Amino acid sequence: MTQHPKPKVAFFDFASCEGCQIELLNMGESAFIDLLNSVEIVEFREVMKEKTTLPLDISFIEGSFTREDDRDRLLQIRQRSRYVVAYGACAATGGINALKNHQADYADFVYKEHADDPQLKSQEAAPISSVIKVDFQILGCPIDTKEFMRTVSDLIHDKLPATYHTPVCVECKLRETICRYQLGDHCLGLVARGGCGAPCPADGIPCEACRGLVDHANLSSLFDVLVEKGRLTHERAAGKTELFTACQKGMKL
Ligand code: SF4
Ligand code: SF4
Ligand code: SF4
Repeated sequence: MTQHPKPKVAFFDFASCEGCQIELLNMGESAFIDLLNSVEIVEFREVMKEKTTLPLDISFIEGSFTREDDRDRLLQIRQRSRYVVAYGACAATGGINALKNHQADYADFVYKEHADDPQLKSQEAAPISSVIKVDFQILGCPIDTKEFMRTVSDLIHDKLPATYHTPVCVECKLRETICRYQLGDHCLGLVARGGCGAPCPADGIPCEACRGLVDHANLSSLFDVLVEKGRLTHERAAGKTELFTACQKGMKL
């Protein structure tokens, strides 16, 4: 029987903590073997030394665009990839990296006397879709590995996965979690894009919208709710509306 070659898959990282790649490596031996039964991984810096310049079926890109020097590398990946997937919040929405876009003095605060070192120079953090066309985004910080496996399965069958449009509150209500606001806490689930199954409120912590915002999120109402019902100060409430979503206001996924 003729064996068809497996789709070639590569992982690339830009400005990120690499936590999404680690999440994938932690998904367990049996899930990883399932993955390897379906695709051939040809580049994945966390686990192998080999690199490739060959055409790719799926490129998973982790991390934000923060340096002009990275533009050519992104364009080259796009040019030789059938599908490009922004993998994790940093790549998809700018993620936690985009917080610095709102803090002019972040370099002095974080790096102190090294703030001007050349290797630390970077520009505003942006999603990779600001440089190249992205076919699909796996949201979350970190990604959910079940969603990753569903995405691989869809793409190798040439099907674009569905994007979630409902807020986290919907999934939270479906699993009958007591609302954080009823417990005197705050939560961003009202405007956060769902698809994660609302694990954070179920674990007793607020949703921080790590999957970004739903379309047309009403951030002004969110601010009022955070202050009035969540009892946050104005400064903290304003900060919450920028955590994970600083690059994303008004952006359509
Ligand atoms: S999305 Fe979160 S876990 Fe993934 S690389 Fe960015 S900061 Fe790390
Ligand atoms: S806990 Fe958060 S996600 Fe759940 S219902 Fe309340 S606001 Fe929505
Ligand atoms: S509940 Fe909110 S913070 Fe938690 S995984 Fe879902 S979107 Fe992210």
